[in-house]
Amino acid sequence: MEKWDVVVVGGGPGGSYAARTAADAGLKTVFFERGRKPGDKNSSGCGLGQRWWRDYPEIMEDLQDLPSVRKIEMVVIKLVDEHGRLRYTSGTTGSDLCANRWPHGMDGISIYRRDLDPYLANLATSAGAELRTSTLVNDVIMDNGQVKGVKTESGESIQADVVIAADGAMSTMAKKSGLRKRWGGGCTLVPQLDFSCNEERMDDIIGNAEWCWFGSLFATYQVNFRDGMHIGAGQWLRDDWSEKPLDMIKKLVSYPAFQSTLKVLEAKPREYQAHMLPWLEYPPKTYTGGMMLIGDAAGFPCPLEAEGIWHALTSGKIAAETAAWAISKGDASERALSEYERRWKASELGKEFEFGKEWSSIWSASAFDPAAMEKQLQLLLEFSMLHPFSIVFDWGDAHMDCLNQHLEHIMDLAPEFADFGKQYVAPLARGIWPKNVKRILLNVKPKIPGLRRLSDQNYFKVIAKLSKGLAPFLDPNIKQDAAVPRDVYERGVK
Ligand SMILES: Cc1cc2nc3c(=O)[nH]c(=O)nc-3n(C[C@H](O)[C@H](O)[C@H](O)COP(=O)(O)OP(=O)(O)OC[C@H]3O[C@@H](n4cnc5c(N)ncnc54)[C@H](O)[C@@H]3O)c2cc1C
Repeated sequence: MEKWDVVVVGGGPGGSYAARTAADAGLKTVFFERGRKPGDKNSSGCGLGQRWWRDYPEIMEDLQDLPSVRKIEMVVIKLVDEHGRLRYTSGTTGSDLCANRWPHGMDGISIYRRDLDPYLANLATSAGAELRTSTLVNDVIMDNGQVKGVKTESGESIQADVVIAADGAMSTMAKKSGLRKRWGGGCTLVPQLDFSCNEERMDDIIGNAEWCWFGSLFATYQVNFRDGMHIGAGQWLRDDWSEKPLDMIKKLVSYPAFQSTLKVLEAKPREYQAHMLPWLEYPPKTYTGGMMLIGDAAGFPCPLEAEGIWHALTSGKIAAETAAWAISKGDASERALSEYERRWKASELGKEFEFGKEWSSIWSASAFDPAAMEKQLQLLLEFSMLHPFSIVFDWGDAHMDCLNQHLEHIMDLAPEFADFGKQYVAPLARGIWPKNVKRILLNVKPKIPGLRRLSDQNYFKVIAKLSKGLAPFLDPNIKQDAAVPRDVYERGVK
């Protein structure tokens, strides 16, 4: 029987990067892709963000030259009301101060998977990994409760010291190895509609930007490529959605605000796609004897907005490094491979899930909750009217009356928002760095007559006594630039 050090199942971003890392480490590596070529069967918005410059700078340099790439220097937010009217446009370029951590600022890119996946697969084959396309892996070889290889649809059996399962959201490997039968909730269907567009119009009207549309019935992204774009939306598997995914996408497209965008871009529908995406609060177990799950197969997309390609590469790298370490010890048992989970939890990837539950519930209860979104939209619009330019151009009444009317509306809407804030936003407070809380309190200190004479240390002691909620942040034993540990925080809040 054929025998390899490492078999990788799946030639998507995670699988290719795992195969590359394993081959670079000198391991005899093969990776299998069911499509005729990598990227053949994959659909995704495929925006790659700033941290790619930090972690994969050479890849980002290379990708700039691929045909479908459009830069992302800004994210434009558009709010549409229940009548389909565009009510508000805003944008973010990220903070230049934060962006200094990576020399390229917000500089992300959008790229079609038909360009990205073959590029990454090529990195793996250049490093010495063997790629077999048009090969569906449909089972694992089990021996004494440990994965020892895989079987293909055509009946081949291939042995391996370690199998890395990179076979996406519906992972056959996870099921066949007994790691899980199905996702226990959280995996969602994401429909997308792709359009071809006039490239010059894209340059003039869209520029280097990603767009997002928020309305009372939807939250959808618009990913802009060199000569095309697609819109997509998630969370369609909620029980309370009455529309089918395609109907919902059609509804978005029919809104006047959308129609005018399509018209100026000379956009023509090209392809409708729908793809499963794990959108979890926390990934379930990611290893068993002889096998590790990476990328979507493991449930790694970000719990807030489901970015997942960086996560697939990063988990693929950690898994391949763990495989090299396990093979060098001659031990790929479940116990040995638990090292993989320890490593990803300790990495930037693990940090993504420290607030997984909080991030995912805030998104579900706002952008994906039509009733909540309708109310929040009104509040956001009222807040936008407090913008200095809005006051200048609000000619409905005398300017001071306009200002007072908006304040009145905000106060009418505030109770709803306060409930939302208490339930969904307040739990995130634990994540504010203690050093930031201390800095705010020190700024306030000179304004409190009774306390301004105290030393900083005594001032913090008094505040901690007065406020149980602030107490954990003022604990001298807490690391100053890390989230306050859950148990310490909960003790303080009680
Ligand atoms: C609509 C949509 C939009 C998204 N937008 C973004 C975005 O803008 N930015 C971002 O970072 N992430 C985005 N994501 C998430 C991102 O696409 C995934 O997290 C990422 O593709 C995961 O990579 P992967 O390699 O783990 O899995 P996949 O990309 O799913 O690749 C799995 C590969 O394995 C192959 N395969 C599957 N089963 C088998 C088998 N049994 N045998 C052989 N081969 C097999 C498949 O053909 C595929 O090539 C989006 C996802 C969706 C669905």
